[in-house]
This record gives sequence, C-alpha cells and structure tokens, in this order.
Amino acid sequence: MTVSDLFGRPLGNLRLSVTDRCNLRCSYCMPEQEYRWLPQPDMLSFEEISNLVDAFVELGVTRVRLTGGEPLLRRDLARLVELLSAKPALRDIAITTNGVLLAEQAAGLARAGLRRFTISLDTLRPRVFRELTGRDDHARVMAGIDAAVATGLPDLKLDCVVMRGTNEGELVDLVAFARERRAEIRFIEYMDVGGATRWSMERVVPRPEMLERIEHALGPAEALPSDDRAPAERWRLADGTSFGIIASTTAPFCASCDRARLTADGQWLTCLYASRGIDLRGPLRAGATRAELVEVLRARWSVRDDRGAELRLAEVARTALAAPAELHADPHLEMHTRGG
Ligand code: SAM
Ligand code: SF4
Ligand code: SF4
Repeated sequence: MTVSDLFGRPLGNLRLSVTDRCNLRCSYCMPEQEYRWLPQPDMLSFEEISNLVDAFVELGVTRVRLTGGEPLLRRDLARLVELLSAKPALRDIAITTNGVLLAEQAAGLARAGLRRFTISLDTLRPRVFRELTGRDDHARVMAGIDAAVATGLPDLKLDCVVMRGTNEGELVDLVAFARERRAEIRFIEYMDVGGATRWSMERVVPRPEMLERIEHALGPAEALPSDDRAPAERWRLADGTSFGIIASTTAPFCASCDRARLTADGQWLTCLYASRGIDLRGPLRAGATRAELVEVLRARWSVRDDRGAELRLAEVARTALAAPAELHADPHLEMHTRGG
C-alpha cells in the first residue's frame, strides 16, 4: 500500500532521531546555554522503533536515516541497524553523524548492515571548529571520516553548513578534501530551523554565491541531472569531482518532499517546520496493532499539505523561527530533537 499527500507526494523517506542529546554545540543548531531534554522513560526502545518502522514500510517507506541529536551517543546503535537491515523493503539505511565517535563505531555499524555514512564537516580548521561547536574535537572528526572511508561503504557524503563570516572561505579546500577521500561534499545553506536562534538572512550564503566561489577557483562546473527526490543539486568540475549544494533556505524543495521524521520519544513530524507532531508512542505503548498504526499514518499523510520552507521564504521580515523561551517550553521544536 502506498499513500500520497494533498500535493501528490508519496511517503518514502523516514528520518529516525534516536536521541536528542548531542556532544557538540554547533552555533547554527544549539547555541544556547541550557536545554530541556526529553525524559528518559519516553525514549522509544529499539524494538519500539522497529515496530513503528514496519508500519511506515507498509505505506511505502524504503529509506531510513538515523540522526539526532548525535545518533552515535545512543548506546549500542549497531543493534538498531541490525533490526533495520533485516527488513528487505528498506533499500537504504544511512546515518547522519557529527563524526566525533565514529572512529570507534564505523566498522561495527557497517558490519550491522548500514549502507552509507553522511558526516557533518563544516571546517578544516581546528580553531574554527572550536568556535563553531564549543568543543575541541576536530581531530576526532577527522579520525571518524578516515574510519568511514576505511569501511569501504559507497556513497560517503560530507555535509557542510555554510555561514557567512565563519566558513564561506573554505569551500574550495573542502571540495579538495572530499575529493581526496572519494567522498562528495554538499554545501547547505544556513536554515532558520527551530534551534537556530542566532539565524539571520545576512549570514546565509546563497547558492549562486557558493557556486561562484568554487568556479572562480576551480573552473566551470557542469550541472548534473538531479534525482527528483534528493534535495542537493549537483555539479561536476572538469577533473570529474562532483559536489552538491542544498539551497534549502533560498530555493526550497518542498514540492518533491517525501520525508517524515520520528523523534526519539515517538512524535511523528510531517515537516521539519511543523509546529507540532503526532504522538505515536501513546498508541504503540497502549498496544495498537500494526494495522491500527498504519491507519494513523495513512490518515495523517493523506491530508498533509506541509511546505514549511516555502512558506518561510514568503515571509517579508524573516527572523529565527522560535525564540529560546518557546524552545524551552516545547523541545520538540528543536532541530536536535527533530533530527536534521
Ligand atoms: N548531530 C548529527 C550531525 O550534526 O551530523 C546529526 C543531527 S544534525 C541536526 C543533522 C544535520 O542538520 C547536520 O548536518 C547539521 O549540519 C544540520 N543542521 C543543523 N542546524 C542547521 C541549520 N540551522 N541550518 C542548516 N543545517 C543545519
Ligand atoms: Fe551540531 Fe548535529 Fe549536535 Fe546539532 S545535533 S549541535 S548539528 S552536532
Ligand atoms: Fe519537506 Fe517541510 Fe522541508 Fe519543505 S520544509 S522540504 S515540506 S520537510
């Protein structure tokens, strides 16, 4: 059975946030001093996540991505990957990680059935990393990237959030760094998601400027045909190196969005910008059958009309999505809770 929303978009892709905790404090995601964490008893067990994934799979989900918070902080994550990789309908099981703990975990995750890694890498400079994340872990991220390369899994991606005044001068070096590791770098526009309380339009480096910086140093880049459902637009340089740009702020891709998000405590969000989610933990723990859960998902997705980033684009005086007090009142609004 498949399901389409009001704009004809199928449900294909599920992001599983396995924890809201994080070992970094990136200034574009967690810039505040204090956070309110999800209560431990509310956290879904791996078996509960697996049961919910089965319901999503019945409606057409074929790709899952583990995220957070920092997913590698979730103890014994490889066991969840094993549960997921035993589901034949899932043709993609990926992870987005900041890489700090990856050196210890990459091989085990690959053995458990993970298909590919996406590692966040915003800078090659340890000093900038410390300023950006509040932690001194750049060398560990580098070791994590090496460990991911060593697993031999294909399709390694490096994701870089570009912020004016921080790392926009590093684009060319990052392209070269990725090329040396046979990875693809993707540059992401700074987004005004929940949690990005320091966001301003002035700090967004728009896609044309990123492209210009790269072409100025490395020569013309040829646009590659895009996969309809993937947010990155890709280019190839004369030497064959490819890179992506995700213009999520200035040119959103809501029209083809087939993604949903599940928080670590079982809230289901049909858009990154949604003001609230649907509680799946309640019905699950009350003993709902698979068919009943599928019906909850089907009923909601079939009336989905979300296009959060497009609506944000239409706002005249655009500022941060939520103030710290609102985030404190409802941590489910946070990017680190929703999963990026
Ligand atoms: N902690 C992991 C990591 O950083 O890779 C996974 C979770 S993180 C929320 C997922 C992705 O969201 C990261 O690639 C991060 O760079 C991105 N992200 C967080 N805040 C963002 C923002 N304000 N604008 C654009 N991307 C953002
Ligand atoms: Fe940074 Fe990811 Fe942690 Fe957010 S969740 S602070 S993006 S490492
Ligand atoms: Fe999808 Fe919402 Fe992001 Fe648009 S803003 S691409 S609808 S998650």
